[in-house]
Amino acid sequence: MKAKQSWINQFDKPLTIAGPCSAESEKQMLEIAERLNKEYVQIFRAGIWKPRTKPNCFEGVGAIGLNWLKKVKDEFGFKIATEIANANHAKLALEYDVDVLWIGARSTVNPFTVQEIAEALRDTDKIVLVKNPVNPDLDLWIGAIERLQAQNIQNIGAIHRGFSTYKKTQYRNNPQWQIALDFMDKMPEIPMICDPSHICGNREGLFDVSQQAYNFEYDGLMIESHNNPDEAWSDASQQITPERLLEILQKLEIRKSDD
Ligand code: PEP
Ligand code: MN
Repeated sequence: MKAKQSWINQFDKPLTIAGPCSAESEKQMLEIAERLNKEYVQIFRAGIWKPRTKPNCFEGVGAIGLNWLKKVKDEFGFKIATEIANANHAKLALEYDVDVLWIGARSTVNPFTVQEIAEALRDTDKIVLVKNPVNPDLDLWIGAIERLQAQNIQNIGAIHRGFSTYKKTQYRNNPQWQIALDFMDKMPEIPMICDPSHICGNREGLFDVSQQAYNFEYDGLMIESHNNPDEAWSDASQQITPERLLEILQKLEIRKSDD
């Protein structure tokens, strides 16, 4: 089997990315960073430009959040991650030395958006993660990654965050695991990370979805974690405290393909 891209090897297996859905204030970011367990979490995430379904919602703190992310990195030693949704976001994130940039599900659906981001990131050695598109279209997901590869971006990963459905199910976004498994068959060199938070949309399902991902030998998890989940400015119902996150991570049984 083709080896995974080597960027994943700098992290202890399994990789865990955690932090709030949205950056809200410097104080909130530093408190979460302080409370996250440094042995289990290697990358701190926070959205600063938030793609909201409806207008007049909180749409993120914007570029000021880059300073807060940098502080988290300097004070706590995490690598830092944020979502970028256009070329300007990409340029700003590079300027602030953000280590991990992710393309969100609503951007992956748009080849123009992916192309402009890919061009803005040309030749970067940052890690770029591509969430699956909101709709269950494997080729669109793979195509987004090919657009990055065409711009000589070497450190790429995929995030499985589930697929939207009109009919409500137990999931906010149905995992449709087979699509991610087919992705892994077609692009075995691309590390695969599961985002149980956006799959579940609630706290109760996080453990089972995370365990399922490890049973399928995913390379890591991205889980939203907030200092005061009930009061979060976005995605409150699915966020968990850093302490609850640690309990979940400690309970997971990890199957490693290289054992
Ligand atoms: C997020 O990670 O906060 C987010 C907006 O996710 P998605 O693109 O998966 O909806
Ligand atoms: Mn979110």
